Amino acid sequence: MSLVSVLLKPGEADRIVAGHPWIYSNSVLRLTAPVTDGDLVQVKDHRQRLLGTGFYNSRSKIVVRLLDRDRIEPNHSFFRQRIGAALAHRQRWMPGTTSYRLVNAESDFLSGLIVDRYDDVLVIQISSLGMELRKSTIVEVLKDLLDPRAILERSDTASRKFDGLAEAQGLIWGEPVGEIEVDLNGIRFLTNLAEGHKTGMYLDQQANYAAVGDLAKGAHEVLDCFSFAGGFALHAARAGAKRVHALDQSADAVAAAQRNAAANGLADRVEFETANVFDWLKARTAVGPSEKVIPRYDLIILDPPSFTRNRSSVPDALRGYKEIHLRALRLLKPGGLLSTFCCSHHVDRVLFEDVILAAAIDTRVILRRVASHSQSPDHPVVPSIPETEYLKGFTYERVA
Ligand code: SAH
Repeated sequence: MSLVSVLLKPGEADRIVAGHPWIYSNSVLRLTAPVTDGDLVQVKDHRQRLLGTGFYNSRSKIVVRLLDRDRIEPNHSFFRQRIGAALAHRQRWMPGTTSYRLVNAESDFLSGLIVDRYDDVLVIQISSLGMELRKSTIVEVLKDLLDPRAILERSDTASRKFDGLAEAQGLIWGEPVGEIEVDLNGIRFLTNLAEGHKTGMYLDQQANYAAVGDLAKGAHEVLDCFSFAGGFALHAARAGAKRVHALDQSADAVAAAQRNAAANGLADRVEFETANVFDWLKARTAVGPSEKVIPRYDLIILDPPSFTRNRSSVPDALRGYKEIHLRALRLLKPGGLLSTFCCSHHVDRVLFEDVILAAAIDTRVILRRVASHSQSPDHPVVPSIPETEYLKGFTYERVA
């Protein structure tokens, strides 16, 4: 099979040689022949040296998403090898888990493809035309490798439009699935994967739920901010925390979390409240000049959504992060722990800790870092592809 070549401009090859799989349209010098969108192409530098092969799409800003440094054919055996390697990685680094992200796009050298495994139900999410056109092969491979009860599609993300794809969701194969029970570290979460429901789980926090749960042993009062389905709150309660208060602004998330608490026999210790975290913290920390805020909590968890989707809104995001830390620190007992997370790729570990430190200085609190957290191993970080790293977190002890 002879492939059309996409030749890059001088100077554009270095990033690719270093292992980054995206070719932007403005890096392209010329094509050796016309290409149909979604076809496999080979990418070469301006001296015609092969850099790799990948899927072409003229409608995307990323015109080629590379799959390999060599010539490959994106057939059944290719996907079987790649998805099989992704599975082996989870089995090695997350042994014993039954729900995890099985394929995480660039992290698993399959740009445009995400597959989540909820025990025997698989959910795929496709964001590139090249992958979309190979969907039936991918589904066959998933059936061979995992023998699932059902395969659903949740390609309802806005990013599909960048590849000229319409949103798609529904059952692709197997029996219809309504609500399922997802086991994370032995805690059961009722999850509705069906159309229209915005549930699902944040699988990237699975390892951190366990780590923070361990820290909650012996805590009397725990506050979980941005609690969603109750991941941190329920792990803290199971570890023995006496009272856990959890906040989320979504009434649906709070209702789901309450059901999860009941399903795990933890409802007597965890209380979920529908509230805006910013307003709630403000109300608890705004006091008159002669009054003092009484620190009540032994452990506070902050796991907000990404406050920024792009570089230009980073300053606003930093103000948001600082604000919640300022207020949370005032509610944390001396000797208590703060576990705090940031899932924005644009705010890195150093910048994030700078903000936390700024909040600590303003509140005259000394923090001692006792743990660093990252995304779970089913969202692998590939340092040559910086976009694969986004979730970071720290646990600090409030020394004074
Ligand atoms: N800790 C959760 C994930 C949090 S995702 C987990 O591990 O599963 C972010 C959550 O924050 C969402 O559930 C969203 O409803 C909630 N949220 C976003 N902005 C909020 C705000 N200002 N106040 C309270 N909750 C908010």
